Amino acid sequence: MSFLYGALSSGPGALALLESPTGTGKTLSIICSALQWLLDSREASATAPSRAGGGGAGTGGDDDEPDWMRDFTPLPPEKEATKKKPKPKPPATRKTAGPGRPDGLGEQDGGDDEVEFLLEEYETDGEDGPGRRGVGKRAHCGNSSSSEGEELDEEEEEEVTPKVYFTSRTHSQLSQFVGELKRTEFAGRIRMVCLGSRKNLCINKDVLKLGSANRINERCLELQKNKKSSKIKVEDEKRKARQAKNSCGCPMLRNKSLQKEFRSEVSNQGALDIEDLAHIGKKIGTCPYYGSRDMVRSADLVVLPYQSLLLKSARESLGLNLKNSVVIIDEAHNLADSLTNMYNSKITSSQLKAVLSHLDAYLDRFHNVLGAGNRRYIQTLTVLTRSFLRVLINNQDVDKTMSSMTINQFLFSLDIDNINIVKLCQYVKESNIIHKVSGYANKMTSIQDGVNQLGQKQEHEGSSIACFQALVDFLRSLLNRNDDGRIIVAKQKLNGQPEEAYLKFVMLCAEKIFSEVTRDAYAVILAGGTLQPIEETRLRLSPDLPPADIKFFTCNHIVPPESILPVAVTRGPSGKTFDFSYNSRSSPSMIEELGRFVCNIVTVVPEGVVMFFSSYDYERRVYDAWTTAGTISKICKKKHVFREPRNSADVEAVLSKYKETIQACSKNSQDTGVNGALLLAVVGGKISEGINFSDGMGRCVIMVGLPYPSPSDVELIETIKHIETISSSLLVGDDKTSGRKCDDECELQPGYDILRKCTKGGRDYYENLCMKAVNQSIGRAIRHINDYAAMLLVDSRYAQASSSKSFSSPTDKLPQWIKTQLSYAQNYGEVHRLLYQFFKFNKQKC
Ligand code: SF4
Repeated sequence: MSFLYGALSSGPGALALLESPTGTGKTLSIICSALQWLLDSREASATAPSRAGGGGAGTGGDDDEPDWMRDFTPLPPEKEATKKKPKPKPPATRKTAGPGRPDGLGEQDGGDDEVEFLLEEYETDGEDGPGRRGVGKRAHCGNSSSSEGEELDEEEEEEVTPKVYFTSRTHSQLSQFVGELKRTEFAGRIRMVCLGSRKNLCINKDVLKLGSANRINERCLELQKNKKSSKIKVEDEKRKARQAKNSCGCPMLRNKSLQKEFRSEVSNQGALDIEDLAHIGKKIGTCPYYGSRDMVRSADLVVLPYQSLLLKSARESLGLNLKNSVVIIDEAHNLADSLTNMYNSKITSSQLKAVLSHLDAYLDRFHNVLGAGNRRYIQTLTVLTRSFLRVLINNQDVDKTMSSMTINQFLFSLDIDNINIVKLCQYVKESNIIHKVSGYANKMTSIQDGVNQLGQKQEHEGSSIACFQALVDFLRSLLNRNDDGRIIVAKQKLNGQPEEAYLKFVMLCAEKIFSEVTRDAYAVILAGGTLQPIEETRLRLSPDLPPADIKFFTCNHIVPPESILPVAVTRGPSGKTFDFSYNSRSSPSMIEELGRFVCNIVTVVPEGVVMFFSSYDYERRVYDAWTTAGTISKICKKKHVFREPRNSADVEAVLSKYKETIQACSKNSQDTGVNGALLLAVVGGKISEGINFSDGMGRCVIMVGLPYPSPSDVELIETIKHIETISSSLLVGDDKTSGRKCDDECELQPGYDILRKCTKGGRDYYENLCMKAVNQSIGRAIRHINDYAAMLLVDSRYAQASSSKSFSSPTDKLPQWIKTQLSYAQNYGEVHRLLYQFFKFNKQKC
């Protein structure tokens, strides 16, 4: 707690990492230290003007004040002199069509029921002129389609600063945080608001029944747009804006007094989570999604999901102001990858084909009544879509179907570098073309198929909008800087692999996204169960920050050392050295030795054993071989055997059967001789993350080999090259030269060569990926203070010492609480003895 408080008090620009394993009170520490700091800083700021030198709270030399108070750097006053945010500008110039029918669509063109799909006339500046609303040529654009076009009429409240922003990955983690907050006195002392998605907060039944988050977002935005366009027409034509204001839009937003009532009820109730907000919104009959958004400006603490805080476009749309605020990012163990994933975009060949056919059909139908601006942009979209499709066609019988290139290389190779994508994206945003074209396509599909069922119609509509949105997201990705990411072109192999051809933009620059947060925030705290390796975190998120400037605190694990038994197992029962590297792991003798090992282990380990393999394919190979050799039958004498299903829908059923079996065996083992169950699982599968194997569910975790990711993965190799470049650019002299050389020369070489040429950062990242997966998997077995489990790392490479030539020792990257207890067993007898003693001791203890 004092670490966090101290980090925040150390002045602006702090970056602190709090590593706190499960059960060590991480959430409470965060709440108490950050919120106490917030309250203290307010108080200090309030008293600052009366103090000598204006140095802020604690600078007056009061002997009763603690050091941190004296050293405290003042923050801006509690409520900044607030300027009201200017009202949003009206949408881009649009004109209704000429005389006659207001839409210009005559009876011969299809009649009234198609008028709704006609685009309003769109005027544009000259092709080379600046984009509308000042969008820069290489503006950084995220992919938050849902947040676009949102402009509210409400007058904004004063902005309270500084604030604390707390973000986590999932709604349930946020609810957990609010639950902990409720248990503290801070719940009654600060104003907090929780932000959720429309899917979680929408109370409009017609919108909610659309089901998917995308469709709900789209429909809600459509409703807001309808409201605005109605208002614009009336303003233009009759100058009576307010008259029409209530005629469209969502009914849950019409009554402003209900929104006020919502805000006051939420303020009175203190700390509330998303479910509470939805409940209050339903009770009052007003939208809790927009109601909670309206409360952000006056809140001291804003609790919100990753996407809302870390995606720049979402921040802008929500009007979040990080200036002088504390940003706490929980579950930050893979933050760099989470950041880049948010900015990735992908479009498949079938999506491109769908968009193309919808655009063609739309242009065919409305060509005569569309203005020149609309026609030109739709034709440009068609040209681009055709070019994208062309690049995916594999007309040569070649193996190499995956390639990567920079944005500029991609644009030049398709000969589309002369198209102004900034203006095109602006057009898509302002013209509502996605809904018009998709709406028309759906209508045509419904007529052709005779689809009258509402559900089917909505499904069609959702999927055609999704195809168009994928195209727009991909186009926006092309607006990034050339070095920010890579375009992956995955053509379809002639034998049908990969399943579908696609184009993907892979964002590489996590540091750029993160710097947009750190630049504004007063301090950023990363929290998580395991944040190691710190150097990689620094390199990927803040490479320019000297290592010494990162504040790091790690808690010991709650379990006593004698409750875990980590062992590096180098040999099997017959003395054969375990080597599960790619070239050796499939040899019959290796699989046989592994079988012998497991047959022995199940006799000494009680209850549940979870065994992790590096891939589904390898697990299947081993299982098949063991079945043939009778190994499975031998294991079944002591443990029932379960296998992780590939289909996520089946995981729940397998896990509950596994659990029931273990519980049943612990009651009846004397009768049958079977003392539990063995679960064969896969690293990175459905079971290795997010599922707890506490107590009897996982008395022993066996990790078979080192699950290095495949170096033939193009995206992985691009990330490795990017990290290598960053780390090399931080070196000096000769080292620097050698690092850069690797990056340039490796451009077209296979993954293994690239890894071999990497000097430090890229190779470390690759090793870390493997060991993070190991740590995630073995960490599933210890979930509370009274838990105990053995962890067997089966491969001689776990006992390898690090050397400058080879990769470093994998065990260097184990969490500290496991590393300090690790034993290296030279033969199976030693493993058996350690296990026997461990379970005997812990059984007696219980
Ligand atoms: S305004 Fe609120 S209630 Fe209405 S559709 Fe949007 S999210 Fe749902």
